[in-house]
Order: sequence, then structure tokens, then C-alpha cells
Amino acid sequence: MAYLSLTGLSKRFGQTIAVEDFNLEIERGELVSFLGPSGCGKTTTLRMIAGFEYPTTGQIVLDGVEITHLPPNRRQIGMVFQSYALFPNLTVGENIAFGLKIAKRPAEEIRQTVEEMLNLIHLSNYGDRYPYQLSGGQQQRVALARALAIRPRVLLLDEPLSALDAKIRVELREEIRRIQQTLGITAVYVTHDQEEALSLSDRVVVMNAGHIEQAGTPFEVYNYPKTRFVASFIGQLNLLPVRVSDPARGVVLFKDTPIQVETPAALAGVSEATLALRPEELNLGEVVGRNHLRGKVLDVMFLGAIVRVRVDLQGDEVLADLFNERQMILPKVGEEVTLNFPPHACWIIQG
Ligand code: ATP
Repeated sequence: MAYLSLTGLSKRFGQTIAVEDFNLEIERGELVSFLGPSGCGKTTTLRMIAGFEYPTTGQIVLDGVEITHLPPNRRQIGMVFQSYALFPNLTVGENIAFGLKIAKRPAEEIRQTVEEMLNLIHLSNYGDRYPYQLSGGQQQRVALARALAIRPRVLLLDEPLSALDAKIRVELREEIRRIQQTLGITAVYVTHDQEEALSLSDRVVVMNAGHIEQAGTPFEVYNYPKTRFVASFIGQLNLLPVRVSDPARGVVLFKDTPIQVETPAALAGVSEATLALRPEELNLGEVVGRNHLRGKVLDVMFLGAIVRVRVDLQGDEVLADLFNERQMILPKVGEEVTLNFPPHACWIIQG
């Protein structure tokens, strides 16, 4: 049995269905992120796990015990919010000790735990400072230490990095992952940032309009999206309208150019479909392999590690991401180019 089971969870606020029939099993020590657009129900689901909201229907079982209607303070769950929510009048050490003091733990245990937590977040000498004397990133680390000090059975993080600037965000997400793995703690992480979700999760749960679209490893949801929503929400995606020409052999036509795909099963019984291609699967150059399309360069964006080229295919636009190389010759706006892509890069989305 999974460590944390969410079964048939739904939550209504009046007429609004915030979460509907949400089913998920989370293993001990796993970091699972809830990823989806604003309003898709991520926070509401997290708040039901924390006990700040009770589900309209469904069940939450933690370590074999049902907790669906248990108040938050009896769940032993730690939470980190977007706004660090530290107590401004308490020092860093006192903030970290807060939950332990409430739980009336012995003074020596509290002192040791605070020291351990300060080391864990690399702020050993900051115990006597006040929150206003810390940077945003440091404050969020203290908030994390405070949540961890109570030895929570599950750590919940609600967009913990959104208030920080880009560089600190990347540093801190690596830090969170390191700490989570060091402690082997089970964690649920809410974000609308796909890169964040892909980079730090064992599994990503992609949500849309209150339900789960797909749950899988970062590799699975990126490379094998099950729905059009997942395919478009995660990463950049080119979508081209095609007509099915030879379904048995996996051949479709984009305008009049035949394109070989590797999933003929998806073509059975349909006459029109959508061809999906990731930009990094498209190469520019001479005609190689089976699939190639001619187009005209509309735009070249130099992004550092990649060069993103926007190409017009007689009215349809695609993006091609080329890996930067120092000796490369950048395409020019207006230039005629050939795009190559292998059959295994082509997925078919019906309709
Ligand atoms: P965001 O990324 O913007 O925080 P989210 O995915 O976390 O979004 P939720 O905050 O869970 O989404 O909200 C889901 C839906 O439920 C939204 O339509 C929201 O307006 C509604 N909702 C959430 N809390 C309440 C509430 N207390 N009363 C009424 N409606 C609510």
C-alpha cells in the first residue's frame, strides 16, 4: 500500500468545482509535484492533504491511517508557502524551534534540532538573526527548516520559489531536492513552472481544470504525453494539421508532402490528424532521412545553449531548436531552409 493515498478526492466551493475525482498514490520518500495552470486545483488539493480544507468527497490515507477529517495539527505535516511567513519578532533559531516548543519538546532536543536544521540549510551562523536581516532566499530556507524541524511525515510546498529571482530559484530548487533526498522525506510540491517540476520531481502530476491529465516521471510526461493538454503545457510543441494518406504504413500528408510517422495505430480510421513535433527534434540543413519540409526563416532567437529558429511552412509556423556550437553559421531571416526530422519524433494527436 502506498504511503499517502488520495482516493476520489473532490472539492466544491459553492458552484465552483475546484478538484474532481483526484486519485493518486504517493510512495514513501517520493517527491511529487502538482503542475498546472492557475486555478487548476493544485493548492486546493495540497490544502486538503494539510487539513486546511476538508474534501467534499473522497479519502486521504497516510501511512495506513485515514486522516481525511483530522485537523491540521494532528497530521504531523510540514508546510512551506510562497510568502515565507516567518515570525518577524522571532530570531531564525526561534522560528525553527517554534513547532517543537508548541509540542513541548525538551529544551536539549530543541537546541540540537535547531543546530541540525541550521547546518542542513547552510545557515549555521544565522541563528540569532531576525528575518528582516536575511535575503528572500535565506528566509525561504529558514521556512523550510522550520517545516522540517517537527519531523513531518509529509512535507508540502506551495510555490515556495515564486517570490524569488531566477538565479536564486534555480539554486534553491536544487537545495530543496538535496535536503528532501538527504532526509528521505515524502514531499508534494505545487508549481506552475514546468522547468521546476521537471527538474526536481520523481513524478509530475499534470493537472487541468480540477483533474489529473497525466501522472508520470518527468521523462514520461515530456516524451510521452497522453493528452494534447499535457503535450502543449510541458515544453514547446509544434502542431501541424495533416491528412492521413496511408495509415497502414504510417504515412500522412502535410499540405502535399508525405511524412512518415512511427505510430500507424494512431492513424487507423481517421482522415485528419495533428502532427506533433518537439522543436529540438527538428534539424536544419540538407535533405537527410525520410522526413523533410521546406520553409522560410521568420525569426532567429539566440538563447545561449540553443538557437530557436521560427520557420514559415506556407502559412503554418514551426520552431526548431538548434544546439549552439561556436562554429555554427546562424540561419538568416528570409532564408529558405530544409527541416529534417526522424519518424520516431512524430506523434499523432487525433483531430
Ligand atoms: P494558482 O496556481 O493560481 O494558485 P491553483 O491551481 O492552486 O491556482 P486553486 O487555488 O486550487 O488553484 O483553485 C482552484 C479553483 O477553486 C479556482 O477556480 C479557485 O477560484 C477556486 N477556489 C479556491 N479556493 C476557493 C475558496 N476558498 N472559495 C471559493 N473558490 C475557491
